[in-house]
Amino acid sequence: MATHLTRVGVHARNDVRFTDGDYQLIRTARIETLKLMSHTDISVYRRLRGDFPNLEMIVRLFDDRVRKGYRPDPASFVGRMLPVIQGLKPYAVKFEIHNEPNHVDGIEGWGASDADARSFLPWYMSVLQSLKRACPWAKLGFPGLALNYPHRDLEWLSACQDAVRASDWLACHCYWQYGNMLSDDWGLRFKLYHQRFPDKPIEITEFGNSTPNLALEEMASQYVRYYQELNRYPYLGSASAFIASSPDPAWAPFAWMGSGGEMRPVVAAVGAMERKAVEIVSERAFPKTGKKVGGSFLKLYDRLGSSVCGNPITDRIVEKGVPVQYFERVAMEEVKANQAGLRAIGTEVLSSRAEVTRLRGLVSAVSLQPLPSVEKMIDELADATEKLVAKIQVLKQELARAQLSSPASGTVQALMVNTLPAQIASLVKLSDQLHADLAAALKSMGTNQEALIAELQARIRSLEAQSGGGKPGSPTPPSGVATPTIRNITDQLPKHATNRYRTRRRTDIQLLVIHHSATPGNTTPESVARYHVDHWNWAGIGYHFFITADGTIYQTNELETVSSHAASANDVGVGICFAGNFTEDVPPPAQVSAGAHLAAWLLQELYLSMSAVEGHRELMSTACPGDQWLSGAEWRETLLAKIGQVIAGKS
Ligand SMILES: [Zn+2]
Repeated sequence: MATHLTRVGVHARNDVRFTDGDYQLIRTARIETLKLMSHTDISVYRRLRGDFPNLEMIVRLFDDRVRKGYRPDPASFVGRMLPVIQGLKPYAVKFEIHNEPNHVDGIEGWGASDADARSFLPWYMSVLQSLKRACPWAKLGFPGLALNYPHRDLEWLSACQDAVRASDWLACHCYWQYGNMLSDDWGLRFKLYHQRFPDKPIEITEFGNSTPNLALEEMASQYVRYYQELNRYPYLGSASAFIASSPDPAWAPFAWMGSGGEMRPVVAAVGAMERKAVEIVSERAFPKTGKKVGGSFLKLYDRLGSSVCGNPITDRIVEKGVPVQYFERVAMEEVKANQAGLRAIGTEVLSSRAEVTRLRGLVSAVSLQPLPSVEKMIDELADATEKLVAKIQVLKQELARAQLSSPASGTVQALMVNTLPAQIASLVKLSDQLHADLAAALKSMGTNQEALIAELQARIRSLEAQSGGGKPGSPTPPSGVATPTIRNITDQLPKHATNRYRTRRRTDIQLLVIHHSATPGNTTPESVARYHVDHWNWAGIGYHFFITADGTIYQTNELETVSSHAASANDVGVGICFAGNFTEDVPPPAQVSAGAHLAAWLLQELYLSMSAVEGHRELMSTACPGDQWLSGAEWRETLLAKIGQVIAGKS
């Protein structure tokens, strides 16, 4: 398990020389990273290296000519900085180019507007390239920006994203007041930078609490807590508090050492603070549902596997004081700090599924057994059925509770109410099929087991009665996804003279495969069928459904037909074709809407979860359903979001 410690830093005295107190401060506070200014005399660097062999020094390139209304051109800036960088090679590797160029007052050059950002970009790129060429060993950082309103640091980051990407690292300034230390907008602002540039290492080159008249003891305890919090973010290299000491009285409220050399409480507190590496558990994003899983939930997810859990359908949320997260097939809760377990609903569904799988194995062994052991098996099956019914009862109680609970988490409730009946029905369906399989197996043995079969059928009926007749959503409202308007033209389409498709059971279906026709949006199903038959010699059209640009849904094959559209996935897939070519465009809203309604309804009727929806190209090497499916406009996300809305009854 990876662990992380963010280096404890401080912004050094912004001066040519240090006082003796400055060296003492570094020793007492056990400073690991020092942020220095390029105009500080080289003798200071030399002494620091001698006194503190392990101290990391990060240097801000400071040019006193950069000020309001004036900035040196890139060549002139580089001309002044290059000898400094080369002279500092024995002491420092990381250099920060400039400082807060976005400050609204334009103190150090530019200003907060988009136009300012756009003019900084070529200046920075030119400086970066020249320095890199001359000093390839140096790690060059995009400068810390003045944060939040009115300085517009995030807008600046967007405008200058090419500059950030070209840099070796990204600097960030984090300031807060009052209770905002752990707010993503203030003290933890680097999190917003990381979201935008997840691969870029971040150094916090300034941080501080700027609350007026802040008590020195409060500053000490807050900074300790802040440094410790920062260990949780593995992409942070160091964090330097502003400022050790300053010749400028304006910065006195931030200084760790007074002008008379007196150490403030923060120095001893940071020196004494525990520096314990934090265990890093990564977070994983699930593009299919746009949710993330992290911490103990991710550990459990990895243990159970994606086929058991499905995709996350909520973020980590807190219900009745307990952190929980819902997935397509299970729900997790944090039973203890850092330890996740399955919620009752998930456990019951899971164990029931496992039981059904075991019983299916039993059934397939029936025809190989002598009669007495078959009778024993049937007893066992009857027993198992009782237990399954009990579990279904538990699920129904969970469902009732979900429907009665407060609407605080509206989406979760809607999802539970809409997915639980389907889960229950799915279990009933499996058990139903199990009994049918057993009956068929017994018949094929040629023995007269009619009484047994009748008894089993009676059990099936009672099972169905107890769980709402096997229909999702019934008898509990809401009634689920309504049947969309579908024009079934299966019998009217061109067919091959002799070739015929195989058939399957509905319960074999596991996937809804999304295609595009790679032809204009007004292509008809007839012309596609004609092409598939004449050109490919197929039995008929390859798809099961065909949706035109205006949102008309045609059924073109029965669900039981194993037609040709996705090679090895044909046996288990339903082919849904969107007419059109989505290499550069995306389907129009009417077509997406119709497709989402159809998919949501099919998922319900076939007892499948959202994860059953796959693009053709996710199953094999093909461009179908177009380049805009997974990248560019990502119409996959549009479609899935819409399906979710239909299932949740919001569309
Ligand atoms: Zn396709």
